[in-house]
Amino acid sequence: MGKYRVLCFANQKGGVGKTTSALNIAACMARAGKKVLLVDADPQGNATGGIGVSKKNKGSTVYEVLIGQISASDAIVPTSAKNLWLIPSGIDLVGAELELADEPRREYRLKEALDTVRDRFDYIIIDCPPALSLLTINTLVAADGVVIPLLCEYYSLEGLSQLTATIGHIKKRYRPSLELVGVLINMYDGRLNLTVSVLEEIKKFFPGKLFRTPIPRSVRISEAPSYGLSIIDYDRNGKGAAAYAAVARELMERCE
Ligand code: ATP
Ligand code: MG
Repeated sequence: MGKYRVLCFANQKGGVGKTTSALNIAACMARAGKKVLLVDADPQGNATGGIGVSKKNKGSTVYEVLIGQISASDAIVPTSAKNLWLIPSGIDLVGAELELADEPRREYRLKEALDTVRDRFDYIIIDCPPALSLLTINTLVAADGVVIPLLCEYYSLEGLSQLTATIGHIKKRYRPSLELVGVLINMYDGRLNLTVSVLEEIKKFFPGKLFRTPIPRSVRISEAPSYGLSIIDYDRNGKGAAAYAAVARELMERCE
């Protein structure tokens, strides 16, 4: 039984690779023989579409789970990848924020739902929206560990204190066992001097937390979701697939 089973990919900054990394790492874990549930907690539904499931406005999505209309178990759908399941999302999820605002234990909705299925999976991977909203709080409260994807650029350093403060607050108030499991550098280009200096700053900010392998910028990585495939199914011998496989291995080592 691992230390961390439920992992949330979080960063309030948009477009840093939360969805791409959550989806591809979930797929790599599934390929390694683990039973994995990917939870799309973003109304944009990018993880849902990216793994080849059509976004839904009505029916069995994480929205109905959060408002207590259906069980987590009833929302789970299979994907085309072996060992990989999904709780889909759709635009309805934007409404959850308001609907839950006055509910008791509103921060625990996702956690309580996922607690009922967690024993069926080796890993549950949650993709977060780009905000520090009630939805994101739900994902952090539900998680045993957080993974922070970052772009290796100057602006990535902005907002990191806010993110770590939020994680600290959630740990103190709602989820004492929550830990930062790793920081993932995305769209890495080692030829740029700026990249090297920003990387040094990130290492100082998160001592010991960076994954050994950064994810390179790759057109194949950005194309894969339009085919509803993870990078290991879309371009199995490419550098993107190799990098995600390496990070997934290191993440699983850290989780055991
Ligand atoms: P949001 O905050 O909107 O949810 P996000 O943090 O989930 O965004 P992604 O959607 O994963 O970020 O990535 C943003 C865009 O960058 C997408 O178009 C994605 O395909 C592309 N992208 C992500 N990682 C890479 C990469 N390593 N190489 C090339 N393109 C990438
Ligand atoms: Mg996303």
